[in-house]
Amino acid sequence: RLNLREQLIREVEIIPLEVVCRNIVAGSMSQRLGIEEGTPLPRSIIEFYYKKDELNDPMVTEEHITAFNWATTQELDDILAMTVRVNDYLSGMFGAVGITLIDFKIEFGRVWENDFARVILADEISPDSCRLWDTATGEKLDKDRFRRDLGNVIESYTEVAKRLGIMKDMPTVIQGGLH
Ligand code: UDP
Repeated sequence: RLNLREQLIREVEIIPLEVVCRNIVAGSMSQRLGIEEGTPLPRSIIEFYYKKDELNDPMVTEEHITAFNWATTQELDDILAMTVRVNDYLSGMFGAVGITLIDFKIEFGRVWENDFARVILADEISPDSCRLWDTATGEKLDKDRFRRDLGNVIESYTEVAKRLGIMKDMPTVIQGGLH
């Protein structure tokens, strides 16, 4: 972060996948498999979606990903390992402030160092791309408030930022836009 309005971004060659990691059933998994939202998964599940708006980002398997050269087997291994690490880190971080990480979506990109490509995380992590439920009450503190017309969108996002202690110097940005 350079200042309130700018951050330094590294350009990557984007891998055309949305990587979703789930700890508790919600959203499309609940609908597709007919499992009630809020059901804990026996273990975390990682899913891949092909980034193609015209097709509504269809779910794909590792077979598709390697067959169509969207990522190599080695890159997929790295993506899986990093996704598990991100899940562990975020679950702990949110858990410590009374928030349950239900699921999240991240993306990855390639950076080239001479002839060697390395895969790095290439996405924001925010309540726009995570499901975050208050652990005590089950209240939703994420984009579902907007998508499901539950109201209090700003209040919920603000609550997440406050609990994480990242709002002290930026309340006017979040609440009122930049002046
Ligand atoms: N997600 C996202 N962008 C997308 C699709 C999903 O950030 O284009 C996030 C979503 O917010 C949730 C997780 O990925 O945290 C799983 O989403 P799901 O497959 O349940 O789809 P949804 O019900 O959100 O459409």
